[in-house]
Amino acid sequence: MTSGTLYICATPIGNLEDISARVLDTLRAADLIAAEDTRHSLGLLTHYGIRRPMISYHEHNKIERAEELIGRLRAGENVALITDAGTPVISDPGEVLVRAAKDAGIPVTSLPGPCALITALTVSGLPARRFVFEGFLPMENKERRKVLDELKREQRTILLYEAPHRLRKTLGELAETLGQERKICLCRELTKIHEEAPLMTLAEAADLYRENEPRGEYVLVLEGKSKAEMEEERTARWESRTPAEHLADFMARGQSKKEAMKAMAAEFGISKSEIYALLNKE
Ligand code: SAM
Repeated sequence: MTSGTLYICATPIGNLEDISARVLDTLRAADLIAAEDTRHSLGLLTHYGIRRPMISYHEHNKIERAEELIGRLRAGENVALITDAGTPVISDPGEVLVRAAKDAGIPVTSLPGPCALITALTVSGLPARRFVFEGFLPMENKERRKVLDELKREQRTILLYEAPHRLRKTLGELAETLGQERKICLCRELTKIHEEAPLMTLAEAADLYRENEPRGEYVLVLEGKSKAEMEEERTARWESRTPAEHLADFMARGQSKKEAMKAMAAEFGISKSEIYALLNKE
């Protein structure tokens, strides 16, 4: 028997009109719609007059339910996967099911559409050529610190998802890690009536939410580390030690004197001859 297909269907992130004709056709024809929250998705399906059998597929049943869905796909049923908002799999359940379908040789196809991070990036005014998406920051302190420290060095535009009740804490930590002057675009309620996407500094964002209660859904788009900031840090690192101390540090990593001087030149953007001259001056 030929197996069915798993359709990954993007649905609106607010405005119900943001759904493709292809997604609507696929939902209408599906044997089964797997939804993160069936009650929530019923609103969307009712709006479009779609009445198909639904089954829940969420964080807490994703393993067992994936097995069950694979069984139904194997039996020839076509399954459409949707989430509460946007593109399934992106900070949403779906990954386990897609992987299980791939492993079982079941065709998977994705019907593109709304995704909060892409919508935010395009409205932010920040560089979009290269960016990094971190989803929600980890809740656990050590893990969270680790990710924040990684972001400190990040030169690409950074995108984060955040819940309103954690926004103030996150803005405070970002300011502490990336600096008060770092630019942020606070994308709120995208595609909805109260949509806004002000571009400001992290200091201004903290001021804004000191007076106003955060409400709605947020994507935080942050400027990456600038070349000027990198250069400033490199100079500070160079000036924090004498050339001989730097040389000793590099050699302590097991490098010969010649290799260490070459590595120093590359790290601090100084020519080897200059390093040689400075070492001989000391
Ligand atoms: N799969 C979704 C997508 O494709 O964007 C994301 C799901 S994730 C569980 C939910 C988070 O996405 C929210 O907490 C918020 O950070 C962001 N989000 C979803 N809809 C949004 C909207 N209309 N405006 C701003 N952020 C939104």
